[in-house]
Amino acid sequence: MARIGIMGGTFDPIHLGHLVTAEEARWQLGLDRVIFVPNRHPPHKDPGEVTDPEHRFRMTFLATATNPYFDVSREEIDRPGPSYTVDTLRVFRARFAGVQLFYITGADAIHQILRGEWHRTEELLRLCEFIAASRPGYALNHEDWQNSRIGREYRHRIHVLEIPALAISSTEIRWRVRNGKPIRYLVPEAVEQYIVKHNLYREGEGTA
Ligand code: NAP
Repeated sequence: MARIGIMGGTFDPIHLGHLVTAEEARWQLGLDRVIFVPNRHPPHKDPGEVTDPEHRFRMTFLATATNPYFDVSREEIDRPGPSYTVDTLRVFRARFAGVQLFYITGADAIHQILRGEWHRTEELLRLCEFIAASRPGYALNHEDWQNSRIGREYRHRIHVLEIPALAISSTEIRWRVRNGKPIRYLVPEAVEQYIVKHNLYREGEGTA
């Protein structure tokens, strides 16, 4: 059975930590491909807090262009309103009938899922398995599982991957640009050039 990874995120901007995560998930879980899905409006954030979705989509496209196993989808970018992951997974489930789907995201998101904070949590876990990417030392612990509000029958559908390169964060990259510090080797060269060309992450620039 084919196996597809769906890499959800705000990607503001996409960085090498995201790319290493997707590649590692592909390799460790034997995925045939990974589809990056930048969101339009993350449900847990104010729309004014994030950079224009088209900029984030284009940077994601540039960053993934040279990997033959990576694709980028406009599924959330083109859908108005908050980007609920359950809506996206319903679409992918219907599009890829008979394929095993894995949603890859950060460990913070998985903590929220375990606490039942996402829209239609158990439906999410029926639609696909989850891969929680975390930097070493931040993975889920025994208490997180014990206090989890999701049914025991779903817990084996969450996999944890430790990714040292996730020490890089989008927040830090935005901070570095704002403060005139280099971001070379933290993001792909094409993304760095895009940020400079469009003057992103300078005070008051680029937000939706
Ligand atoms: P976030 O809350 O800004 O990020 C939390 C942490 O996870 C950050 O350290 C972040 O690093 C990391 N992270 C995010 N996506 C990652 C990925 N694909 N791989 C590895 N690390 C990742 O995260 P977000 O990007 O806004 O949300 C993640 C996804 O969950 C998005 O697609 C969002 O739409 C979805 N979401 C859905 C619901 C819902 O349906 N109710 C609620 C919340 C989030 P960086 O800052 O460096 O990316």
